[in-house]
Amino acid sequence: MNRRVASADALQVRFWGVRGSTCASGPQYVEFGGHTPCVEIRCGERLFVIDAGTGISALGASLGMDAPAKVDILLSHLHIDHVGGLPFFKPTLLGKDRTIRTYCGNLDGESAKAAFDRLFAPPLFPIRLDQLPAHFEHHGFKAGETLTFEDGLTVGTHPLNHPGGATGYRFHHRGRSVCYISDIEHSDPWPDPGLAAFIRNADLMIYDGMFSETEYTYCQGWGHSTWQKGVELAKAAGVKALAIFHVLPGHDDIFLKAAEKDMQAVMPTAFIARERQGIALQPAGEAAADKAKTAVA
Ligand SMILES: [Zn+2]
Ligand SMILES: [Zn+2]
Repeated sequence: MNRRVASADALQVRFWGVRGSTCASGPQYVEFGGHTPCVEIRCGERLFVIDAGTGISALGASLGMDAPAKVDILLSHLHIDHVGGLPFFKPTLLGKDRTIRTYCGNLDGESAKAAFDRLFAPPLFPIRLDQLPAHFEHHGFKAGETLTFEDGLTVGTHPLNHPGGATGYRFHHRGRSVCYISDIEHSDPWPDPGLAAFIRNADLMIYDGMFSETEYTYCQGWGHSTWQKGVELAKAAGVKALAIFHVLPGHDDIFLKAAEKDMQAVMPTAFIARERQGIALQPAGEAAADKAKTAVA
């Protein structure tokens, strides 16, 4: 697959899974795709993976042998739609000189190791992660802390309103920024001032728009939001573009295209994320920088 690297200097996003809760499959899900959450972020050449839903298998196949020796996977939280793809990520099979590092921010500083040791073990799973060829490291932090990596890159984090907690992330590179805000249920009052400050003036916010407003009335307390609340938050915080994400498995292409049309009537730069869709944000100040360029592979 042509990876369409637009620029080594760009901040790039590619969606590998956009469904919440569980996969969707069938001819009515072709345009938006069926995998659960996984997003590739590139700060220049530097790879970050957000979440390890089933979409991470497609990302791993795309990376192939070109995967970095160390892959950093930033987890929003450990619900199964966000971690179930981890053993199917190809770099875990490439040898013991490969390292997979996970980062988890909603366990009061604890890493995901104990949870993974329970989930990926008999009788729930045939093998344990430490039986895979790659070396795993699991890191814990408290959402709200800034993550600093050995190459000097930093990633902002923020706690999100979700059962058991979740972590939002803010990536920045060459004057551009992208925020990942899923899974989240909007709060009252809304927009939440702390969250609005965290995402302020971002070029793109990826936001949990799982439910329609009608569905939400039946699903309060389940930890998810609507595109309308995403637009409210984006507008209040000066966010330039909005990608609705973590969409309901029952929302087919016809439903989502109609919802997208309604949303674009109130925020023209908003869209519903499609699996394999890529976005390249050129460095701020450069000629082509004023508009996010979207390419669907
Ligand atoms: Zn989820
Ligand atoms: Zn969740």
